[in-house]
This record gives sequence, structure tokens and C-alpha cells, in this order.
Amino acid sequence: MVPRLKTEAIHEWFGRLPGSIGIGNVRYTTSGKCDDVSIIQGTQPVVASIDGIKLALSFNGNIVNTLPLKKEITENFSDFLYSCDSDIVCHKMLLALKQGQDLTSAARTVMESLDGAFSVTGITGNGDFFAFKDPHGIKPLCAGHDPDTKTFAFSSETVSLDMNGFVRDFELKPGELVTVSQEGFKRIQVIKNYREAFCAFEYAYFARPDSRFDGKYVYEMREDFGRNIVKEFPELVKDSDIIMSVPETGDDSAMGVHEESGLRWERASRRHRYVTERAFILLNMERYSTIDKKINILGPKVAGKRVIVTEDSVVRGDTTKVIIEKMRRAGAKKVYLFVTFPRIIGPCFYGIDMSSYGQLVGAKHNPEEIAKIIGADAVCYQSLEGLIHATGQTEDQLCLACVTGKYPTPCAQKMADAMKKRFLEGYEEKGRIYESEEVQP
Ligand code: SF4
Repeated sequence: MVPRLKTEAIHEWFGRLPGSIGIGNVRYTTSGKCDDVSIIQGTQPVVASIDGIKLALSFNGNIVNTLPLKKEITENFSDFLYSCDSDIVCHKMLLALKQGQDLTSAARTVMESLDGAFSVTGITGNGDFFAFKDPHGIKPLCAGHDPDTKTFAFSSETVSLDMNGFVRDFELKPGELVTVSQEGFKRIQVIKNYREAFCAFEYAYFARPDSRFDGKYVYEMREDFGRNIVKEFPELVKDSDIIMSVPETGDDSAMGVHEESGLRWERASRRHRYVTERAFILLNMERYSTIDKKINILGPKVAGKRVIVTEDSVVRGDTTKVIIEKMRRAGAKKVYLFVTFPRIIGPCFYGIDMSSYGQLVGAKHNPEEIAKIIGADAVCYQSLEGLIHATGQTEDQLCLACVTGKYPTPCAQKMADAMKKRFLEGYEEKGRIYESEEVQP
């Protein structure tokens, strides 16, 4: 009964909201402090005003050059309170509007001033509803409409359009601004950038399997990832009895491994239905206990077996370590870890919270060493070429920075290089690289 009451309360609350446009974003913190108060203060949309000009803005991504911009914004807004980079995006655009720029010019100013990933939706005080993407198009953002009610929407993923009965119209292009009126969408290419850089990690981990990019479902790509690894490691496939996935992001690649190898996919790992946190987003202790509660191993299915385990990625390695420990306790004879995302060797500056070298097991260790650390008999990463091919993109349309060390934006590249040098010399990082004073370009 409790969920029903909650649903009614939400509907009642929505019914009280005036107006016909709404924006918001569910974000996990990759900028600013992580305590409860800061997270609530950073809730989107950010709403700000100056000299009668109002702006509400929400965004998906992460800004790299926050520190110099914070200084500029503070000089222009006496009451500016910084909680995280969302405040910077909103105030930078508001400042441009205050200086008399129209919406297109203000979007251009934001695109030219910010280094990072930003897929933005916003509403001005005049009721202009708009969305735009950074010039590299790092984070997804698509547009759709409901033909019956003539309602227009933007969403990071197509799945939310599907679930609300909307037709997907298009994915915004990098550097594109889209405005909405009763006639529909108006698309303006504000900046043309020849180096696109869509986050490749979306395909392997972040996006929902039932979302589509360029007409292809994410689950289809993940199945292809599984097929690729089978072709890349035939000897280990021959030496295996069954497949098991790390649910749920490893499920679709397990299907691909099953179809390509003919091995049985055993549902030997079960996910606790009510533990919903994404493990690598959590803080250390929380993470360990969440993984422990979240994944259960069905002992009889793995006892005495040589098992291929499909996993989307290895970031810190602790998720997989806990699972493999449980498998060993249940009697698994061999554990071969098939990882669909290539080895992560560098931090992300664009909205995935793996923001220092020290937290990445792949930054310090090769696959053999990683296998020892997590207790596997082998760790087999899908090749970069296999991943790129399965996405249907080319290498210069994707961001692969955390795998290759080549960052699509200049500030991120400079900071990553500066911190990597220190890291290799034994320096201990303190928090996120892009928030560190020491490596600001
Ligand atoms: S660095 Fe990695 S996780 Fe971050 S945007 Fe690029 S591909 Fe995605």
C-alpha cells in the first residue's frame, strides 16, 4: 500500500505545479561535495536571475574548467553560492543573456567557454524552452514528441520517450541548439566540431539496454561485445563449462558469449531486487557492503565448474573481487572474467565518477596482475577495435579517453597528463583531478 500512497502524493504534487514546461535531471555527484546537504543544494534544475532575467537549467555531464569560471562568476554575481558545476553552467549562460546576447549567442558562449561534457535543457523567464549539447557531444540527448497531445520532450535516453509513449525524433548533434515552440523543434547548428566524442562507456555500462543510439539498441551492442570476446579468447572458451553474468550489465554480453560459444548460460548469480545502488558510484565501505548484499551466487550451479563470468567493466576491481570470492567459496574450479569495456587506465573528466588514477586498478596493473588481485584465473578484455566496430561508430566519433589516455578537450588532457606524471612518481592524489588546484592549466 505504501507505494500507492506515494504515487498518489506525487500525482497530487505534479497537479499543483503551474505552467506547461518542466525540466530536471537525476544526477550522481561528480562535482562539489558529496555530503547530504551539498547533494540537496545541487539538486537540478538550477534557477538563477539577474536584473529581471531568469534562467532555469539542468545538465548531464561534468565541467572540467570549473575553478577559473567560478572566479569569473563570483565577480559578476555578488550572491553567487557555489555547490557544484551545474551552478557554473547556469550562471555562465545567464551572464551572456544579461550582456544582451540572444539565446543562440548565449549557447555559443557557453559552448566556447566550458571544457567538458554538457547536455543541457533549460527554460528562460520568457518561457523559451531549449536544449543543447557540448561541441563534442560527449553525453547523449535526444528529442521526441507525443503526436496526440503535441507535447515535446528531451531525454538522455530513448527509453524514457518510449515509456511515456513519445516518438523519438532525433539525437541532438554535437554543438547543436534546439528550441521548442508549438510548431515543434527548431534546430540550429551553433558550433561545428569535426572531432565528435560520444562516451563509449555509455554502450558498455551506463545506458539502459533498452535505449537506442543511431537506431541500434544498447543490448544488441552488448551481445556483440560478448561475441567478440569469444572470438578473441578461443582457448579459454574451450577450457570452460558454463557462462555466468554479473547482473545486470553483464547479462546481454553473456547472451552473446552463449550464442557464439554454444556454452550454457547459467543464471548462477542473482541480484537482490531491492538493492538498487550502482556499486561503483558508492563510497568505499558502502560499496563493499552493497555488493555483498546485492549479488548472491547459486552454489550448486558453479561448484566444480570452470566458469566464464561476463562483466561490463573493471574500475576499482572490488565488485568483481567480492563476486569471485563468493564463487570460490561455492566451489567454482576456474573463473575467467570476460570484460566488455577495455582496460580503464585513466580517469574520466566528463561525468563518470572515476576521477583519479589511484582508484583505477587498471592504471597500475596489467590484466595478469589484475587477475591475481581479484582472484580470477584470467581477465580478458574486449579489444578496442571490437568495441568500436560493435558500436557502429568510428574511433574519432567516440570518447575513449579513459582507455587510451587521449582526451577530446584540452583542459582535461592537460590535467590528466600533469597528474599522471605525478602519479607515476608516487604522488598520492587528493580527490578528483579536475578539482585539484595543483594541476589547473
Ligand atoms: S573518459 Fe571514458 S567514461 Fe569518461 S566520457 Fe570518455 S569514454 Fe566515457
